[in-house]
Amino acid sequence: MSTPADPAAAATTLSGTPVVPGVAAGPALVVRGEVSPEAIERFGDGGFASADDALAAYDQAAQAVADSFARKAEAAQGAAAEVLTASAGLARDKGLRGAVAKHVGGGDGLIPAVRAAVEQFVTVFTSMGGLMAERVTDLQDIERRLVAHLVGEPEPGVPTPSEPSILVAEDLAPSDTSGLDPRLVTGLVTERGGPTSHTAIIARQLGIPCVVGVAGATEVPSGAFLLLDGESGEVEVGGDRTAAERRVETSRATREAMAAWTGPAATSDGMPVKLLANVADASSAADASGEPVEGVGLFRTELCFLNRADEPSVEEQASIYADVLSPYSDGRYVIVRTLDAGSDKPIAFATHEGEENPALGVRGLRLSFGNPGLMERQLDAIGLAAEQTGTETWVMAPMVATVAEAEEFAALVRARGLRPGVMVEIPSAALLAHRMLEAVDFLSIGTNDLTQYAMAADRMATDLAHLTDPWQPAVLQLIAITAEAGKRAGKPVGICGEAAADPLLAVALVGMGVTSLSMASRAVRPVGAQLASVSTETCEAAAEIVLAATDPMAARAGVRDLLGH
Ligand code: PEP
Ligand code: MG
Repeated sequence: MSTPADPAAAATTLSGTPVVPGVAAGPALVVRGEVSPEAIERFGDGGFASADDALAAYDQAAQAVADSFARKAEAAQGAAAEVLTASAGLARDKGLRGAVAKHVGGGDGLIPAVRAAVEQFVTVFTSMGGLMAERVTDLQDIERRLVAHLVGEPEPGVPTPSEPSILVAEDLAPSDTSGLDPRLVTGLVTERGGPTSHTAIIARQLGIPCVVGVAGATEVPSGAFLLLDGESGEVEVGGDRTAAERRVETSRATREAMAAWTGPAATSDGMPVKLLANVADASSAADASGEPVEGVGLFRTELCFLNRADEPSVEEQASIYADVLSPYSDGRYVIVRTLDAGSDKPIAFATHEGEENPALGVRGLRLSFGNPGLMERQLDAIGLAAEQTGTETWVMAPMVATVAEAEEFAALVRARGLRPGVMVEIPSAALLAHRMLEAVDFLSIGTNDLTQYAMAADRMATDLAHLTDPWQPAVLQLIAITAEAGKRAGKPVGICGEAAADPLLAVALVGMGVTSLSMASRAVRPVGAQLASVSTETCEAAAEIVLAATDPMAARAGVRDLLGH
């Protein structure tokens, strides 16, 4: 039911990085997530008779927090369940308890001791960078929950809205997002976080329109009427409700039409574009095979080994890979990426410890410099899996910086009867794409890392969302150079980073000459439907617009104008 417009309402507009398209409107539910300062003051130093008593209170609180994470993990699925289980483990962590004990022993009150211990861990995790740095939000979440238990307040977090609302928060922890009900939380706005942040990933999984990196978002009063546009990145506060509801309705109809798209992908004038899936294991590969995809564009093999202490044998690896390849033995193909261990994906049996700057260190292909057997055994296993399943298998290496690396890798792959390619994730590879293509059969652009390295901005840094944006003109120039090299060589150039899942950007990427787009399987239909509605000429015009734009906002606005959005 629509509410009459308030003519006196003066709308203000905030803006951020749009990460999940769609329009949503409703009252703001602002999550502050802090324990009340009054309760903390009342608790004081806790009045414990001894340090042992204080530690016993800590143990009780830690157990309660861990139990509540474990309960949420049981109710969640997939990645969310794994993250929650990890948080339960972190709450019970002996190292954390040891640090608390040390501070209590040194005379600190229990709450300052908990805060100091968590701060110590935050510093260590932050300096490790990548995935570990991403766990900082989880640690801070655990701290808030521990303090809440100690002072006897309910655990902070996202309350269940009583009516469909737009959730506004500084950033969301996995425990906040795991239980989100898309019928009640119709949109997400965060003040921090970038396109690859946890909030963005969960919002994409749930299909909730989302804008991140919105300065001033948490100052919006709870209950204020918001209109969120997950395509333009605009969040209107206090605007006309009737007009807002009309926009929500139009957007819902468009999204429904997109979900009905069944492929095969092509522009409106019939130029084919391959849409492929990004997968992590046998189960995601099987799920994606039911979507209108022509294969897998990125199988992240390292994700199969995150919890392994020792390198699996060739036979075991072959059987894991064969399970991923099998659903595609019907004439489709799979691009297997060799281990991208290191930096944000530490793998016990492969990565180097204690690097000063792991994102610029020995990761991906570079691990094979000092350990060539690791790569050879993996390629043997991929070759065996391809033979066993009969699936057309291409193999690509991550983090390739030089033409010589591409040549050496290609020789190893060809020796096993497979098709070699390399990822373009480092600007040097994009600038030398034409030379890379003399060595290999295809290129696949990893826009997550290409953006990180082109902009010198950690892809996980929540404060650098405006830089870690694939719409940055410098990143788009590197993609255009790579696509042009592909056109000249007559060889495929695909995109397998998050950028491929953005329907608007997909139009411009195809206009640059990119031949395939690989993404989370949930994003395939909206991208396919968008491409089917535009001609090749429009795609080329979109490419020209984004390459001429001075910043991501202008680039997005230009393409939206062109498409009449
Ligand atoms: C990328 O960097 O864009 C990519 C696809 O690889 P990953 O996200 O696994 O680093
Ligand atoms: Mg990468």
